[in-house]
Amino acid sequence: MIRFETLLEKVRSYSPEADLELLRRAYVFSALEHKGQVRHSGEPYLVHPLEVADLLADMKLDVVAVAAGLLHDVVEDTLTTPERIAELFGPEIAHVVEGVTKLGAIPFSSSEERQAENFRKMLLAMVDDIRVILVKLADRLHNMRTLHHLPDERRTKIAQETLDIYAPIANRLGMSKVKNELEELAFRYTDPKAYEALRSKVEGKRKHAEAVIDELTRTIRAKLQDAQVPVLQLDGRIKRLYSIHLKLKRQRIDLERVYDFVALRVTTESIKDCYAALGIIHQTWSPVPGRIKDFIAMPRPNGYQSLHTSVISEHGFPFEVQIRTEEMHRRAEEGIAAHWKYKEGRVGDHRDERYFQWMRQLLEVQQEVRDPQEFLQNLKIDLYPEEVYIFTPKGEVRSLPRGATAVDFAYTIHTDVGNQCVGVRINGKMVPLRTHLQNGDIVEIITQAGHKPSRDWLGFVVTSRARSKIKHILQGEERARSIELGRRLFEKEARRFDLNPKTLLESDELTKFASEYGAQKPDELLAHIGYGKLSARTVVQKAVPGGQLTERPPDSSVVSVVKRVLRPGAADGDKIKVRGTDDVMVFRAKCCNPIRGERIVGYITRGKGVSVHSASCPNVLNLMFDPERRIEVEWDSAGTDQAPYTVRLTMQVEDRKGMLAEISAKVSDINTNITTMEARTGGDHHARIDMTVEIRDVKHLEKVIRSIKGVQGVLGVERAARA
Ligand code: MN
Repeated sequence: MIRFETLLEKVRSYSPEADLELLRRAYVFSALEHKGQVRHSGEPYLVHPLEVADLLADMKLDVVAVAAGLLHDVVEDTLTTPERIAELFGPEIAHVVEGVTKLGAIPFSSSEERQAENFRKMLLAMVDDIRVILVKLADRLHNMRTLHHLPDERRTKIAQETLDIYAPIANRLGMSKVKNELEELAFRYTDPKAYEALRSKVEGKRKHAEAVIDELTRTIRAKLQDAQVPVLQLDGRIKRLYSIHLKLKRQRIDLERVYDFVALRVTTESIKDCYAALGIIHQTWSPVPGRIKDFIAMPRPNGYQSLHTSVISEHGFPFEVQIRTEEMHRRAEEGIAAHWKYKEGRVGDHRDERYFQWMRQLLEVQQEVRDPQEFLQNLKIDLYPEEVYIFTPKGEVRSLPRGATAVDFAYTIHTDVGNQCVGVRINGKMVPLRTHLQNGDIVEIITQAGHKPSRDWLGFVVTSRARSKIKHILQGEERARSIELGRRLFEKEARRFDLNPKTLLESDELTKFASEYGAQKPDELLAHIGYGKLSARTVVQKAVPGGQLTERPPDSSVVSVVKRVLRPGAADGDKIKVRGTDDVMVFRAKCCNPIRGERIVGYITRGKGVSVHSASCPNVLNLMFDPERRIEVEWDSAGTDQAPYTVRLTMQVEDRKGMLAEISAKVSDINTNITTMEARTGGDHHARIDMTVEIRDVKHLEKVIRSIKGVQGVLGVERAARA
């Protein structure tokens, strides 16, 4: 167990200005909070946060990160809240601790490669401060080092997760030292057999390998000295078991044939020296063709720089050599964590320009950063600003563009799921379909067979897939409705002139007109009528040779409207029955809710059928600017078994006892059904009564209103615009 004083000394050594008192308070607080808790190893729990803080100090991180290391488990494992941490240690430390706690709460189950990739992205996307990741990596590293204390099953699971998620994240951030150790530790538990077999084989070769390494390093040192290439460090090692294991698996060979399980590393002064050293090594031994890699000229995506080559010794022993500068070495080992060291007065170093370039790309920092110091202080990461990552109920991770909604997600599952989605549960709660998805949300779509997309969805979906699928369905429906409406209007018009609509539709004249009009089929022409682009009269005229029309004398069956088909959701839809020889889709406009017997006008809407307004509706004037779309309608006079309309009446009355009873009695007396009734008392002895009644026609309505007005104390009765 490291002593806390040693940790303080370590921090002081690289950061003399650091607020050690803060660290001391964090330590004492953590000790108090974790008091009595014990790890699987039997040690006091406090050992763990202390070790994590020590790892962060090894990375030479700032006080915020080290303190967060000391406190990283108190929110999860004790009763402490993030607010309390903020009070005691400031918002920055609280923010990092909270971030680490959140990451720990995300469940990961699949080890499928694509899933793991999305999951890594999700973790990174949820983090806005790089120190959260660094603390999390240190936490994981210490847990891996002490993994042998855990029960078997948990060991394997944690080790697998480390390989799938945390080692690749460390790699992405260029931290190869952490990555390598995580992989080595995890390998032992994820594939114990392979690990043990490989370990004993390598062990069998160790003695020989070490002798070879010894000889090779001496030779290289001598050759480089002769050529006056400075050697700052030169070491050789047997490669890590996990990297040999991967190579064996990738190349499907056994250890006898693995090229270079030995690697030498030359650290020199400058880039020029690196290339010089490479030349000398190639003069000494034969390089293996195709194995020379120049990561100096072309760094890896995570910023790694080095020269790699494989050569064969005079005894036929293959080995790899890596050549780099000290700076490159430090970055290769520490990656993103190397940055905090710039605080030690090396700010603005010219050679760093390129590295910062990489950092900016990596972190996608949008703003221009001139001063590396400032860059570090404001280091916030947003690695995937364009995407959000969410869970399916089965625990799969999906990525969607930022701003995506539940409907977008539904369409990524399947077109039918999108079309039929009626609701969504996010993290177990029902929310509106338009809700924006957040990183880490668990999203469950609720579908209903036969449900159709709504036009409103186009207002909030962001994926082009969802948009085009919705449009496709809406257009198909609109078109079908328009053709249907166009056909009815056309037939009606034809009959008015005593013509057979079917014959007309198939006539040469009509076909000719259709093609002039750019319509491939008669259906398209009908759709144009339905959309109100062409009048039925014009089309009938074109279909008659010479365009001569003779109107048929009016008879009793001259028409008008029509029955039925309200779109789903329209109020009391199928109660409307208006006689018709036609069967045009008609619906009562919601704005004025006309009732039988009232003067009405019809208007051909785009794709939705004919809307019927009360002639006194204020919207009518606006709608009638397009006479082509205007259509005559009237109430069907046949039949007495028509279903009633629901009409809402609002009345102002004096506030007196028995008023409600009297009104309802009066209304019931004239055979009228009251569906709802509600009274609200105002201040000045007045009250308002809202009542919905079932009305057969306008005469019936007038009668009801008259009888209410007859009640003493009723000041006024009005029909509400909407039912
Ligand atoms: Mn921990």
